[in-house]
Amino acid sequence: NLTRQLATSVQPNKNPEIKYTQLFINNEFVDAKSGKTFETVNPATGKTITRVAEADKVDVDLAVKAAKDAFKLGSPWRRSDASHRAFLMNRLADLMQRDAAHLAALEALDNGKPFNIALNVDVPASIACLRYYAGWCDKIHGKVIPVSGDFISYTRHEPVGVAGQIIPWNFPLLMQAWKLGPALAAGCTVVMKVAEQTPLSALHVCKLIAEAGFPPGVVNLLTGYGPTAGAAIVNHPDVDKVAFTGSTEVGKLIAKQAADTIKRVTLELGGKSPNIVLGDLKGDDLDYAVNQSNFGLFFNQGQCCCAGSRIFVQENIYDEFVERSVEKTKKIRVGDPFDSKTDQGPQVDGEQMGKILDLINSGKKQGAKLLTGGSRWGEEGFFVQPTVFGDVKDDMRICREEIFGPVMQILKFKTIDEVIERANNTEYGLAGSVFTKNIDNALQVSNSLRAGTVWVNCYDNFDVAAPFGGYKQSGYGREKGEYGISNYTEVKCVTIKIPQKNN
Ligand code: NAD
Repeated sequence: NLTRQLATSVQPNKNPEIKYTQLFINNEFVDAKSGKTFETVNPATGKTITRVAEADKVDVDLAVKAAKDAFKLGSPWRRSDASHRAFLMNRLADLMQRDAAHLAALEALDNGKPFNIALNVDVPASIACLRYYAGWCDKIHGKVIPVSGDFISYTRHEPVGVAGQIIPWNFPLLMQAWKLGPALAAGCTVVMKVAEQTPLSALHVCKLIAEAGFPPGVVNLLTGYGPTAGAAIVNHPDVDKVAFTGSTEVGKLIAKQAADTIKRVTLELGGKSPNIVLGDLKGDDLDYAVNQSNFGLFFNQGQCCCAGSRIFVQENIYDEFVERSVEKTKKIRVGDPFDSKTDQGPQVDGEQMGKILDLINSGKKQGAKLLTGGSRWGEEGFFVQPTVFGDVKDDMRICREEIFGPVMQILKFKTIDEVIERANNTEYGLAGSVFTKNIDNALQVSNSLRAGTVWVNCYDNFDVAAPFGGYKQSGYGREKGEYGISNYTEVKCVTIKIPQKNN
């Protein structure tokens, strides 16, 4: 159990001071032109934390202008050495480290995730991402190509320009770092829109961006809604590229809108990932698979795009797996995100809670066996009981639709060929996993899954050096690792006539 393993030495400040609630443009915090604000809510209580500026098209125009100016030829950012970009990114990482407890408190307050997890997972992973990409800044380079004739050709990997980045609420700091890291390493400038549910930690990072010494306009950040501020970024002719993480539904809209200006687009969308547990496991190995499967589903209140939400268990160990999974799930401690004993906080908002409860009801109605949970938890805030369904069938809504909540589906299978076919029978293709001690079966399953990430004998193992992204309707493009950089570069080929070529 992750929460129990984590250091608890830092006492959380349950009432972190909220200093930044405005838009961040040109390294300054400014009101929205309209003067409009919207509330951000504490999901553990349902009460308003504060109000933040509501950006609209006119604010997007200003942010894009700032980013475009910062990207002009001869600007401080364009003239800076790659090693200096690395220095700035490392300085930002240092400042995030300095303010780690405050960032974690903002994250817990605004998103609802346990403070301990924010402090020991989200914040360090975000810092690691910035440091990793800082290391890439002066290692992004092209090739010299042996073309025919008295010519040489070489490629330059140039920054794509102004990057529009739209991120979700489930990992506010980490999604911000995943987007900023490769964009800044490549030398782009950024206009980011954070999710309306969770603006606070990202705004504090903006303050640190200015403090680190990034030139004005390199990073601009807007708080506001998708159909207004988000769409304005996607439609803006001076935005060269859009990177989006969120629902498949909105991803489709963005791909269509971005087509009008032929923007480069990368999409990280939803999933319904299969987690396959083969029948050769017993004893401790089976326990381990139960624990990892539990973690792979319930981590982050179940709000993970790659959650292992279809657990296929081979028939000979099915009953035992189900029994142990239910036992483990009943031990999950739901409650106040600031309590060090809490494993599971609230869902991010009432809308998500309602969507999850609706899907739970559909599972009950369609004949899945409810083994534990199945309702709202408590009366205040947006909590859902950790829930397990057994005897789930492939055509049930809980098996086809992304739930994005603490709801586990367990299905039974007989043969490996059968489970591969059923696992791939989804419009999504983000992740998958297989648990077995048999190397042949592990390789057969991992090679056969149509998904961008496959974990063998582990789940949710994330390292910034390893790429992540989807097949099929889970999106396109890869984030993290070296692959993530190519999203933010254009390849220019320069060919030069030379007097005489000699090999
Ligand atoms: P969402 O798609 O509604 O929102 C995500 C972001 O897009 C928010 O910032 C939102 O304001 C913005 N947005 C909404 N409509 C827009 C529009 N018309 N134009 C431009 N921007 C718009 O998603 P959500 O319900 O808030 O988040 C949960 C979803 O995100 C889940 O489906 C989950 O799978 C997905 N997700 C995917 C990944 C991944 O890495 N693949 C990671 C996290 C979340």
